[in-house]
Amino acid sequence: MGRDETSGEYSVLYADARGVSRIYHMSLEDRVWRIWRSAPGFNQRFEGRLSADGRNIEAHWEKSDVPLHCWCGHVRGVAIGVSPSSGFRFVCYCKDCQAFARFLGRADLLDRVGGTDIFQMPPGRVKLTTGTDAMRCLRLSPRSPVLRWYAECCRTPIGNTAASSRFPIVAIIHSLLDHEGRPRVEVLGPPLCRIYERSAVGPLPPNAPPPPSLRVFGRRASKLLGWLVRGLNRPTPFFDDCTKAPRAKPHVLTPSERATLYSG
Ligand SMILES: [Zn+2]
Ligand SMILES: [Zn+2]
Repeated sequence: MGRDETSGEYSVLYADARGVSRIYHMSLEDRVWRIWRSAPGFNQRFEGRLSADGRNIEAHWEKSDVPLHCWCGHVRGVAIGVSPSSGFRFVCYCKDCQAFARFLGRADLLDRVGGTDIFQMPPGRVKLTTGTDAMRCLRLSPRSPVLRWYAECCRTPIGNTAASSRFPIVAIIHSLLDHEGRPRVEVLGPPLCRIYERSAVGPLPPNAPPPPSLRVFGRRASKLLGWLVRGLNRPTPFFDDCTKAPRAKPHVLTPSERATLYSG
């Protein structure tokens, strides 16, 4: 980090183990802290305000469009206007999410204690533009209210939706989001909570997200309501516009498939 003595602007050089390196510009004036970087097709802007007593900073990254693609690149799309406040990130340790990863042969996408990193956002901000012929969906049991979508080409999980097209949430699984080298926490914010920790396959690490608080519940409820009111449940890439039927016929696990997937 260094400061130009005439302009007062700072340059911040960022580099990490993945070989990503970037130069950010930074300024601090009148209690406003700004960081920005302009690159072709990828602008990032951060603004923070220092409280009068100098003890707190209220800050946010501006929204950006995040490319989506499956492992092999056949299924592609974009998540529009993504920022930590535009969705709801959490980690789910439930047995269903673990069974889904096992069904796909992608237990490697779970964290060390079986958690799935999920970003809930409205379907209306998710566009899948190519490779949608490879979209499939799974229902873990005949009465399950959840459809679990994945790309058949390389068995990358896409996300979970309700069985009804009206529900304004899609739970995008982290493997589909391409942050283009940016840390996930920078793009989506930290996970706000964990759920179903009793199903974790080992002791949670000390840096695991906190259990859900009333505040977090309230935040999710108000997001959900806002998305519903603004009609962001559509257009959805997961359901037919006219018939409202899922775009792929759900595969329902047979009892023997269930037994295998839930025993692991
Ligand atoms: Zn789960
Ligand atoms: Zn693929």
